[in-house]
Amino acid sequence: MTEGVSEKSGGRVGVIKKVIIALAVFLLVFPNIVSVILLVRQSEIQARVDYLAKEMANMKLGTYGDLGRIESGRLALLDAYPEMFAPDGMQDSLTAVADASENETTPNDNVAERLLPVSEDVSGGDVLTDDYVWSFSSSGEVGEAAHKVYLTFDDGPSDYTDDILDILDEYGVKATFFVVGKEKDSDIELYKRIVEEGHTLGMHSYSHVYSKIYASEENFTDDLDRISDLLLEATGVQPQFYRFPGGSSNAVSSLDMHRFINILDDRGITYFDWNVSSGDATNELLSADRIYRNSINGIENRSTSVILMHDSLVRPTTVQALPMIIEKILSMEDTVILPITSDTELIRHIE
Ligand SMILES: [Zn+2]
Repeated sequence: MTEGVSEKSGGRVGVIKKVIIALAVFLLVFPNIVSVILLVRQSEIQARVDYLAKEMANMKLGTYGDLGRIESGRLALLDAYPEMFAPDGMQDSLTAVADASENETTPNDNVAERLLPVSEDVSGGDVLTDDYVWSFSSSGEVGEAAHKVYLTFDDGPSDYTDDILDILDEYGVKATFFVVGKEKDSDIELYKRIVEEGHTLGMHSYSHVYSKIYASEENFTDDLDRISDLLLEATGVQPQFYRFPGGSSNAVSSLDMHRFINILDDRGITYFDWNVSSGDATNELLSADRIYRNSINGIENRSTSVILMHDSLVRPTTVQALPMIIEKILSMEDTVILPITSDTELIRHIE
């Protein structure tokens, strides 16, 4: 009887032990399972937040981080190229004048608002592969396309040149770079890369200092020789195209611009202005969305669109807008993107 009782109580103790062990194991394991589930969930949410933050940056560039980058970019530019900034701090106002004049002469700057927002316009647009572009280019349709679009980048090379070239390469399109004179090894490599990848390398003066270049024919010629020699030496290719800083219609030069045009003519150099402005040279940094809308505005109504953009450390939103711009243009009917060549219809503000 006692044996029976102790067996019974022994069995009960065993059950209690098992329950306690099971409970202990459960208490140890359960929080871990919950932790793992929460961790997975958290990383999913974080990924979503990152994605949305990126989208917002693309749309608005409203974060302090980006502004900080731009500000430090400005300082880096000042450090690296002091000659581009007048010693008395005039360069800022000079740039402002230039920007104003570049924008003054642009017909489509303020009408972009009526266009659809980016998301409605380009979402779901197929990214064209190199193969597609190549077959399109080689089919002979290029010469006959109703709309020819020329992407032009002024003021490079910059820290963004490689990014711009990567994007152009990704879409298999060629553009035109109107560059200024920079002589660091990394800049020389960028001049080379532009030429090697089939883009047009044009001149945009050596110094980009309006007050110097446009002061006299002699100054203009010296500056022209300097940039021409630099690019020839760097790439082995004689540059044939020129874009006046501020455009041929700039309001900065006190001398008649025809004097400088004659100098280019004598050397067989062709200058190009633009008839579409991305608006990216305004003092205020435009959003990628705004640059996109400015750039594609009016392309359908022109046989030739030369789009003014900037390859500059202080213009990050241009780089952000570029894929959207290219995708939109490539999706337009009977429209091609080409580099400037001697066959390009002349787009000029003054003749
Ligand atoms: Zn410029």
